[in-house]
Amino acid sequence: MTNIENLVIIGSGPAGYTAAIYAARANLKPLVFEGFQAGGLPGGQLMTTTEVENFPGFPQGITGPDLMENMKAQAERWGAELITEDVVSVDLSQRPFVVRSEDREVKAHSIVIATGATAKRLGLPSESQYWSRGISACAICDGATPIFKNAELAIIGAGDSALEEAIYLTKYGDRVHLLVRSDKMRASKAMQDRALNNPKITIHWHTEAVDVFGENGQMMGLKVKNNQTGEESRLAVKGLFYAIGHNPNTSLFTGQLELDEVGYIVTKPNTVETSVEGVFAAGDVQDHEFRQAITAAGTGCMAAMLAERWLSAKGLLQEFHQQPGSEVSQKPEQTAQSTEFSLENTRHQGGYALRKLFHESDRLLLVKYASPNCGPCHTLKPILNKLVTELDGKIHFVEIDIEQDPDIAENAGITGTPTVQIFKDRDLLTEVKGVKQKSQYRELIETHL
Ligand SMILES: Cc1cc2nc3c(=O)[nH]c(=O)nc-3n(C[C@H](O)[C@H](O)[C@H](O)COP(=O)(O)OP(=O)(O)OC[C@H]3O[C@@H](n4cnc5c(N)ncnc54)[C@H](O)[C@@H]3O)c2cc1C
Repeated sequence: MTNIENLVIIGSGPAGYTAAIYAARANLKPLVFEGFQAGGLPGGQLMTTTEVENFPGFPQGITGPDLMENMKAQAERWGAELITEDVVSVDLSQRPFVVRSEDREVKAHSIVIATGATAKRLGLPSESQYWSRGISACAICDGATPIFKNAELAIIGAGDSALEEAIYLTKYGDRVHLLVRSDKMRASKAMQDRALNNPKITIHWHTEAVDVFGENGQMMGLKVKNNQTGEESRLAVKGLFYAIGHNPNTSLFTGQLELDEVGYIVTKPNTVETSVEGVFAAGDVQDHEFRQAITAAGTGCMAAMLAERWLSAKGLLQEFHQQPGSEVSQKPEQTAQSTEFSLENTRHQGGYALRKLFHESDRLLLVKYASPNCGPCHTLKPILNKLVTELDGKIHFVEIDIEQDPDIAENAGITGTPTVQIFKDRDLLTEVKGVKQKSQYRELIETHL
């Protein structure tokens, strides 16, 4: 036995999980760093979209988070080991290679890099002040929050993602202002037609954002400038969504692998081999042309197969055979519904349970606000589920779907999902926005138990 991994996969989008499925089925027992917050979400970019209509095998479409949960379950079923941590450094100068996260150091004979690409920000002067208080890089995650309901909203961008998100926002906002820097859009003709024909979308050509402004910590509007006339004006929008493209997540590899001028990993023609033998790159991190889930998955498959061949040719491959029936079975967690409310139960769901618990619980009350299409909410789910299981009987936990219970979300002042609030004796002790490590939620809870 050796403590050197056959294959470490970095990233858990379609490329990473597909590589994991193929490598696990080839008995390599790959170790996957799914990521946590560097370079996107575990599950990758599709965690931030609603319907995926072009991934083969789903004639009725499938939501991005569902597709990624299926891929993850398939990888786990075949024995891939998944770790929800960011890789913070790699050393490709020595063999075996060294891969480090905050919590561990791993040695590996081969590596598949599938770190994808990250949404760009504009860096407006007041951006950090109003981030998650009106500004978001994920319309699909945050569009359903009550502050945006029937409000005027703005979105910046001119590609397919921007138009898809602008159309999505019209479900919630009264009017969606689309800011386009020039007199052209990069989006496909079909997508442009959908946006141009949508009566709730107003397109502002030659227009750039200058800054946002607000009141009481909440964004109230956007200063914009016409870049032809120089004229500045204000849009009274409550939400600003960025959809301005991506940067490849390759900073870990600068100086160690050949990258192109933008930062994409260079692979050899018709393969996914990088400039270092035994290191393969799959998905958007090496693809500035197609950037689709299916091409990412396809190159993930190629990377795993080439890694297996390479390990085998070098005599480094160590096979791990899975015991029949040892696949991970993932039973859904039982959650109490309003009709069966009991203070004895730890887990609850919905507004009825929250009201009852708020008044009657003598335990610490953990409330999670989520929305169905929000990728980070899917990421948070298993993290909190584990913690709640560990704290069974000591706390009450209630999940609120803000689309089903918008009034509750509004009363609670929820401005984005996921948000977790912790109450004791009807007092709000703390609020956590976004997704954190399990240990951070545990620490917060334990200080109040
Ligand atoms: C809004 C939107 C809608 C889309 N709709 C479609 C669609 O309908 N159909 C379609 O085919 N494509 C669609 N795409 C494109 C598709 O999502 C991407 O092409 C695909 O996700 C790329 O997959 P990937 O595996 O290369 O990378 P990503 O999905 O970007 O995943 C990258 C992974 O790397 C991880 N990571 C990054 N850095 C680190 C690190 N340091 N350590 C550990 N892990 C790390 C991240 O956590 C993430 O898991 C859409 C994209 C967006 C943004």
